[in-house]
This record gives sequence, structure tokens and C-alpha cells, in this order.
Amino acid sequence: MKYDLIVIGGGPGGLMAAKTAAEDGLKVVLIERKKDITRINRSCLQVFYLEWVCPDGYLETVKAELSQNKTKLLFPGPGFSIDYNGPVKPYRNVIWISPSGHQVYTMKDEFFGFYFDKEAFVAGLLSEAEKAGVEVLPGTAGVAAENTSGGVKVLTRSELGEQTLEAKTAIAADGLNSNIVESLGLNQERVVFIPRFQHVSYDVEGVEPDFPGHENSILMFKAKQGFTMGLTKGDAKYLSDNYKEAVKAYQCEHWFRNAQMIKEYAVSVTVRSAVRKPVVGNVVIVGDAGSPVETWIQGAVACGYQAVKAIEKELSGQKGYPEYINWWQRAFYFNDPGYFPRVMLGHGLFQTWTDDEIDYVCKFFQGQKVVPTLALSKNPEQVKDDNPEFYSKLKEGLAHFSKLIEPILATYPPGSTIFEDPNACFDRWRPYVVSR
Ligand SMILES: Cc1cc2nc3c(=O)[nH]c(=O)nc-3n(C[C@H](O)[C@H](O)[C@H](O)COP(=O)(O)OP(=O)(O)OC[C@H]3O[C@@H](n4cnc5c(N)ncnc54)[C@H](O)[C@@H]3O)c2cc1C
Repeated sequence: MKYDLIVIGGGPGGLMAAKTAAEDGLKVVLIERKKDITRINRSCLQVFYLEWVCPDGYLETVKAELSQNKTKLLFPGPGFSIDYNGPVKPYRNVIWISPSGHQVYTMKDEFFGFYFDKEAFVAGLLSEAEKAGVEVLPGTAGVAAENTSGGVKVLTRSELGEQTLEAKTAIAADGLNSNIVESLGLNQERVVFIPRFQHVSYDVEGVEPDFPGHENSILMFKAKQGFTMGLTKGDAKYLSDNYKEAVKAYQCEHWFRNAQMIKEYAVSVTVRSAVRKPVVGNVVIVGDAGSPVETWIQGAVACGYQAVKAIEKELSGQKGYPEYINWWQRAFYFNDPGYFPRVMLGHGLFQTWTDDEIDYVCKFFQGQKVVPTLALSKNPEQVKDDNPEFYSKLKEGLAHFSKLIEPILATYPPGSTIFEDPNACFDRWRPYVVSR
């Protein structure tokens, strides 16, 4: 057989898998649908999140050694590092800004992560994969995978037509809406939560904010027409959705006097419950291909690495797949029943509020370090006396979301709780953890 491994998808997860396998001596082919692998079109805030300790003994051990020319991203849990040569910009605050300008900090005065350029990150991984001998086929889409008695067949499509590749093993790293996951029948067991989640975002150059402390902050403008902005030296990254209308509402149109939009991104996905067992025969699922929305970039690369280590064990006659399945189930928050309530309440609840109500909430928590939606969902009573009308609306919203997530919660088998503390998902939200 020509290949040991076919990797489908050249995002962070697939490239990390291909590079790791080739460096370890496997014969690897990587297919990627896009012609230019390093061109990123998909919405992403491009924040790398650092070193968080979770309350129950799990430890997220991602660290970074930042220097002028090169950044080393260290993953001491799985035991690898990645060199990254692109720009870096530390973030210390995440600030919610209400329509009338009240500010609440969901992160305050701590170096919690940094902006990085996903295109540069992917370009670095691609170059290392090619150096290690990976055969890269851009402009080639994976259509379906099939387990055979001797390994795996992957049907591909490119300008040259359809072709079948064969290998001992395959990794599906083709992101959300994965063709490979669908072809293996794994979507049949997944519950569709949001049939179509769409999102558009922009990079804009030459923004001139007069907001004090914006240099190290992600600003989240929370109104009906809100937007999120991570600023790097006047370049605003990730101005989401309808920001041109929103800047008028926030009276910050003058920041954009000399600004120019330089890039548009989009994402359109079906949000499903996670794949529970990310191995079918000799096909291993990596990164977003098996997740509801995101493993994040650090989770995707960790997945790519762990999948290859599992495959290498299997190829040498040991049992690697059960270890990988166990790791997947323990490493990602979306495998914890607290995940969907956290996402719905954290991101959804405020969308049921009017701009006046968002103002009220941000004024209530003004200057504090808190995620207002989560604080109110844990303890709605705190606004009961102060604002009984809003309190009853809040209770209605909470009841509505609890009902909405019931079918998803029913998909979590008993014992799937990752954290001993049921509030861990609420208190210290991290997408990816590494067990000691
Ligand atoms: C709005 C938004 C904001 C985000 N912000 C952050 C953030 O700040 N920090 C962070 O770490 N993460 C963030 N993420 C998540 C992050 O972008 C993903 O989790 C990460 O890119 C997953 O990597 P992946 O390799 O699994 O998949 P992807 O990055 O999606 O890569 C999949 C690759 O497969 C290719 N492909 C697709 N179909 C096929 C096919 N059939 N055949 C061949 N190739 C195919 C795609 O072109 C792509 O190159 C965000 C996501 C969203 C939606």
C-alpha cells in the first residue's frame, strides 16, 4: 500500500496530524479542498488562550514562550511544541460595552492569551509537514471514506475528476459539516441543535479608537446590532456581522473615518451534538469534524497529535484507539453536560434582552469581573428586588433555554461528566483540558 495515512483537511488539526506522522516516519498524503491551503476564509477571532487551571484537578497546560522573532507554543500534557513565526499581540481584558457605554470585564488585568495570525500559523505547519515529506494535494476534496479489510479507501474529487486513495488508516480533519463524518454514518447518532448557524466577520485597517485601554483588550459591543472587536495596532480583527450599522448606535463611527475593510470571513454550520466515539474502523476523527462548533485551534492541534500517536500504536499491534476515544471524551468541554447550557446562556440569553435591558445589566455589574449572563443564570435572585420586571423576564428566558437544551442533554450518557464540580463549565470556561 502506497500510504500509511490519508489526512483529509488541511486546517490546524489535519496539518498537525500530517506533520507529526511524517516526522515519525509514516507515509502520508494530505488532501485539502482549497487550492491555497494557507488562505483562511472562515470566521475566527484568532486568539490563543493560555494556561488555565480548572477547579477539579484537570490542568490545561498550554503555554507560550514569546520572543521577538519566534513564539514557541508548548503543550506539556501531550508533550509537543509548535514554532510560530507570525505576529503576536497580548490580550489582558475582555470588555462588554453596553449601548450607553457601561463596561463589564469578563477578563480583567490578566494576560489570558494573545492574538495570532491563523494564516501564518497554518503556513508554518504546512511548511513543516512538507519538509517532513507529506505529499500535499491542494484543490482536492474528500467525498467519502470506507473501511476495507486491509485499511481505508477515500473517494476524492478535484479538477482532474474523481479518484480513490487507499491507505492503512485515515484521519478526518475536514472541519465542521465534515463529508467524512457524514459518509461514515456518524451524523445519524448526533442531535441537530441549530440547523444553520451563520456568521460573517471582517478585518479592518486604520481604526482610531479613543477608548482608553483598548490596546490590550477585546471589546464586545453588546446590543442587538453588536459587534466584537480585537484591536491590534489599529487593525480591528473580527468585527462581526452588521458592524457598520452598530458603530452608529455606539457613536463610534468616527473611529472608522480612515478605516478600510481588508478581508471578509464567513461561517455557516449545522450545530450538532459531539461525536462520542471518534474512531470508526481505521478512520480517526480530529478537531472540529467531530465537535458541535469548535475545538479551538489549540484543541484541534492537540487532537491531530493524539490521533497520530493512537494510529502509530495500532500500526505496531497495540491498542491506540481506545486511548484516543478516552482522551477525546475527557479533553473537551463539549463532552460535559454543562457545555450546552453554558453556550446557550453565555451567548444566547442576552439576545432575548432589549438594548435598555442590556444597559441595565451592564450598569448593575459595572466595572466588575464577571460574565453577566452566567452570573444571572446562576443567581437570578440578585436582581429581583432591584428590577422585578426584568427578573420575571430573566426567569422566562432561563426556562426557555432549559427546555431548548433538554434533547441535547438527553444524549449525554451517564458518567459523561468531566468535572466533579457541576459549575466548572460555568465558572472556568475552557474548551480543551489535559488530564494530568
Ligand atoms: C466565530 C468563530 C470564532 C472563533 N475564534 C477562535 C479563536 O479565537 N481561537 C481559537 O483557537 N479558535 C477559534 N475558533 C475555532 C477555530 O477556528 C476552530 O476550532 C479550528 O480552526 C478547528 O480546526 P480544524 O483543523 O479542526 O478545522 P478547520 O480549521 O475548519 O479546518 C478544516 C480544513 O478542512 C478543509 N476541508 C473541508 N472540507 C473538506 C473536504 N471535504 N475535503 C478536504 N478538505 C476539506 C477546509 O478547507 C479546512 O482547511 C472560532 C470559530 C468561530 C466559528
